Amino acid sequence: MVQIIQQREKCIGCNACVEAADYRWRVSRRDGKCTLVNGVNKRGFYRVLVDDHEYEDNLQAARNCPVRIIQVQKI
Ligand code: SF4
Repeated sequence: MVQIIQQREKCIGCNACVEAADYRWRVSRRDGKCTLVNGVNKRGFYRVLVDDHEYEDNLQAARNCPVRIIQVQKI
C-alpha cells in the first residue's frame, strides 16, 4: 500500500500535482486549493491509502509541489 498525505491549508492551487496524477488530485472550485481525492481530514492533514501502482505518479506530484506539502510513502 501507499500512503499519501497533504497539508491542505498550505496549498497554493498551482495544479502541479494534478498534472502528475489527475485521478488523485483535483483543484476545488470552492477555494482554489487542491483536494486529495478520497482523503480523510485529521487536523488539517488529509490522508489516503492507495494501491502500489499509484506510487510513481504521486511521488512525482510530491516532487512537483512547490510548497512541499505532499508526502508519499510505501507502507
Ligand atoms: S502541487 Fe502542492 S501547492 Fe500545487 S496544487 Fe498540488 S498540493 Fe497545492
